[in-house]
Amino acid sequence: MLYLDNSATTSILPEVKDKMLTYLSSEFGNPSGKYYDLAEKAKKAVEEARQHISQLLSAKTIEVIFTGGATESNNTVIKGVADKYKEIGKHIITSKTEHKAVLDVCEYLETNGFDVTYLNVDQYGRIDPQELQQAIRKDTILVSIIWGNNELGSINDIKTISAICKERNVFFHTDATQVVGKLEIDWENLTGISFLSCSAHKLHGPKGVGALLIRSDAYGKLIPITPLIHGGGQENNVRSGTHSVHNIVGFGEAARIAFDNLSANSEHLKKLEGNLCTTLRNKFKTNVAFNSDTQNKIPGIINVRFKGVNNEILLKKISSVIAASTGSACSSTKPSYVLQATGLDLKSVRESVRFSLSPYTSLEELKVFEQL
Ligand code: PMP
Repeated sequence: MLYLDNSATTSILPEVKDKMLTYLSSEFGNPSGKYYDLAEKAKKAVEEARQHISQLLSAKTIEVIFTGGATESNNTVIKGVADKYKEIGKHIITSKTEHKAVLDVCEYLETNGFDVTYLNVDQYGRIDPQELQQAIRKDTILVSIIWGNNELGSINDIKTISAICKERNVFFHTDATQVVGKLEIDWENLTGISFLSCSAHKLHGPKGVGALLIRSDAYGKLIPITPLIHGGGQENNVRSGTHSVHNIVGFGEAARIAFDNLSANSEHLKKLEGNLCTTLRNKFKTNVAFNSDTQNKIPGIINVRFKGVNNEILLKKISSVIAASTGSACSSTKPSYVLQATGLDLKSVRESVRFSLSPYTSLEELKVFEQL
């Protein structure tokens, strides 16, 4: 069976699993413990992982806050900024094609007296930076725009968006869950990005661990936000809870491998994507249409419409050969709101399928499409 739902989650690499197993067995110490070796070794492992993640993202190690995944990172930053800066303003800007882990947080805040602007998107799900410019108000405290869309793969113009937010003195958060490990992240130079969310299980690491990057100032002080999870303050007083050492170690190893192979993986994904699109075009001719753009996109995410064929029926039919999805696994029971926001009619949305590839998918494996 060919697994092509890598935007939902990825397999754990053997090297990642091996590293994790050590911290699930003999090295079981609590990194917050003191004086004895077991705790010191766990602490060293957590800090090494932090180093790998900061390298992948071009961030400083102190800016990396470990969380329980991107959903938690998004919740932490949006609720944390809202609470901390509510006296300054109660207006938040986001877009209609964000992940549910942003949209639902914004909707929750609306029930608590916040005002949220949901920016429209173009046919590929990208916002227009000019519209953002016009939407920023005196009471805007946060802009949250996804870096790369999980259903279409389209990339927002984060350089321009972050520059606008910096100039207008508004915090900018980006959900980079789908791009981390696939594209270069220039956090160091894109200083208009205040916060960034990502997750290990999208880059062949474990589930249940992610990171929130928070921009530091020249003195190493992070932008203050109200913590979502209070307690022992393990993660720079922003996030509490005993470190999930095995998960963090796994995340670190996945980040190290992704960093070492970034450009080769990206090239391979582009090649796979080109090959798959050509096969689909040759085989299904005018009966297929592509919802994804061909440029400025995450390599390896293809959203395609099989005209006249219901996507659920199709996916069920091919499920013993190919595993793919109709869109986000986090909102799979309803027709995709992301595709609807791009202007696709409901019939077309119901004919659309997402194939998401991995750098570990081979060209050989894609031949299965020729036999469909
Ligand atoms: N944001 C995006 C863009 C995602 O694709 C996902 C995963 N579906 C998430 C957030 C949530 O990540 P996690 O599973 O780590 O909570």
